Amino acid sequence: MQLARFNEVESRYMSQAFDPVLRVALDVPLPRLFDYRGDGATPPGSLVRVPFGRAAGSFKTAVVISVEAHSEQPADKLKAVAEVLAVPPLPADWLALCQFVSRYYQYPLGGVMAMALPPLLRQGKLPRRPKDKGDKRDKPSATAPTAVPLAPTLWPEQEAAVAAIAAAAGSFTPILLHGITGSGKTEVYLRAIDAVLARNGQALMLVPEIALTPQLEGRVIARFPNARIVTAHSGVADAGRTRGFLDALDGRADIVLGTRLSVFMPLPRLQLIVVDEEHDGSFKQQEGLRYSARDVAIFRAKQRGVPIVLGSATPALETFHHAGGGIKNGGRFRLIELTRRAVAEAPPQVRIVDTRREKLQDGMSARLIDAVSERLQKGEQSLLFLNRRGYAPVLACPACGWISGCRRCAANLVVHLADQRLRCHHCGLETAIPRTCPTCGNLDIHPFGRGTQRLEATIGERFPAARILRIDRDSANTPAKWQALLAAIHAGEADILVGTQMLAKGHDFPKLTLVGVVGADAALFAADFRAPERLFSQLMQVGGRSGRADLPGEVLIQTEYPAHPLYLALADHDYAAFATAQLKEREQAGFPPFVFQALLRAEAKQLDDALDFLARARVVAPAGEQVMRYDPVPMRLYRKMALERAQLLVESASRPALQAFLTEWTTTLYTLKTPRDLRWHLDVDPLEF
Ligand code: ADP
Ligand code: ZN
Ligand code: ZN
Repeated sequence: MQLARFNEVESRYMSQAFDPVLRVALDVPLPRLFDYRGDGATPPGSLVRVPFGRAAGSFKTAVVISVEAHSEQPADKLKAVAEVLAVPPLPADWLALCQFVSRYYQYPLGGVMAMALPPLLRQGKLPRRPKDKGDKRDKPSATAPTAVPLAPTLWPEQEAAVAAIAAAAGSFTPILLHGITGSGKTEVYLRAIDAVLARNGQALMLVPEIALTPQLEGRVIARFPNARIVTAHSGVADAGRTRGFLDALDGRADIVLGTRLSVFMPLPRLQLIVVDEEHDGSFKQQEGLRYSARDVAIFRAKQRGVPIVLGSATPALETFHHAGGGIKNGGRFRLIELTRRAVAEAPPQVRIVDTRREKLQDGMSARLIDAVSERLQKGEQSLLFLNRRGYAPVLACPACGWISGCRRCAANLVVHLADQRLRCHHCGLETAIPRTCPTCGNLDIHPFGRGTQRLEATIGERFPAARILRIDRDSANTPAKWQALLAAIHAGEADILVGTQMLAKGHDFPKLTLVGVVGADAALFAADFRAPERLFSQLMQVGGRSGRADLPGEVLIQTEYPAHPLYLALADHDYAAFATAQLKEREQAGFPPFVFQALLRAEAKQLDDALDFLARARVVAPAGEQVMRYDPVPMRLYRKMALERAQLLVESASRPALQAFLTEWTTTLYTLKTPRDLRWHLDVDPLEF
């Protein structure tokens, strides 16, 4: 790959009075840009390598933001750009997107761009790309299958949805496509994308996690054998990610299908954005730049004047609220509903099993055990859902009260009997399982509570002839293992699946007819106000796994709160009833989406340092009645990886007021003196508290 080199730029421009100055964004934790001497022919959006830092020969990739006639810095202090990477300049709308994200999330522009750029470009390298001079539309891509499958005939609701999306072409139109799993949402996306390709446009489709992509990827590739499809997720290697980015940038790619980072793909011919499973928490990045890919996607659709389709069976309450909270066409978003299932005649029967008066056998009610046996006899599959991995959440000594705590986190070490370890799920710390109590020497120490491994073991004892597969982040810790597990389920090599929410995600298991929810009550009363929303969505999704083919499905929910409105709404398949009730509660309590929030978090070796920083931050916060400032408090998980953490919540009923406040506040925060080991960050629209 040939690179334009500007090693001589320095000497050439040394003596000239009007050196062009390149103002660039660099990945440093400071909210400012940097000036370098360059060449007038380097337009904004160009990627350059610049010397940075004290060490000789240390370079960073930077993005040219503007070309200036003068710099505030003295001319002899300006260093010269070392090299211009041989890639087309990033387009103005890409720069504007990054600038929006930088302002909205109060994060340095260079940091936003470093994250948005693919790995090789960040390192100043270029991948090898196959030569391609022909028209991209007449050449099938390398991945195209040989067989091109017939698309089903849409039924009226789907037709209407596709027509509405087509009618919105060329205008910013946010559309919430609400329909249960199997109601044909993906089919609607595919038709809408087809229409975009026919108009020579590009489509961007965001999906929550890698776990979802293989099946969907296959379906998209099969449907559009002549399109160039770029997939972008953590399973794609650095060079492939970088090639995909460049293909999107020069317009070669027709469809970009990927996880949250794909929202930053440059797309010159963009005509449609689809966000599948828009409610999924994984769209929000939880470290570094804490952005929501869904919200950035909405901004992007607005910026480019294109429709955006947000699809979900259980929309985020924020999204549902924007779509009029159940009143058709009552909100800023259009609401389109798909009310029938594609394949199964009826949705699964959801039944609530009251466990208050029953002595459970290894966590299972007689009713659930019978239901599993019945499926075994019929050669059908059952799924037991327990959203806690490991064998048991804690090891404890009944004699002295010792419990297996993590010394780095304010959390317990989880018992992993399969590999004889105690393991912290927050920091990864591991120890062997002690034989005796480390405090009093008692021999009789026990695992307390139940995780998927324990359920797997006890189910195995109860049904010795059954083939049991456990599916959680331990058993499916690599994409290959996950694929192998999915293949085994599909091939009918399992009778009973024991798993966490991993199993809830968009997978079709034709022989699965029973879902047993072993225990989910804890989320009903969790301190996090979003816990019920998550629980409803998880149970709805996991329930949707059953009975997708020609066999009717059944869902059994074990609970000690059989009359809880959340479970009743589930039994009625009534998302709108649940969401409307939740929104009413949130409005009364003053929670999002009725207020907008941001968290300032600080972490240090000592909790007091973190709290002290936040207290000072509160004092220097700009005045303003529209923004409520709460007191600094330790986080619930107040110690993690040997760092102690605290946070301060600010909120406002006005988004602009909060944004203005945050911008001013952040500027001040950067000037505060802090202890050496203290780190702070802002989380705008936080999901986790
Ligand atoms: P969702 O994305 O809402 O879960 P899908 O689009 O995946 O739903 O549809 C579920 C199943 O029904 C898929 O196998 C799909 O091919 C099939 N399907 C969707 N629409 C139709 C239709 N109009 N006629 C027949 N089958 C359909
Ligand atoms: Zn003890
Ligand atoms: Zn830990």
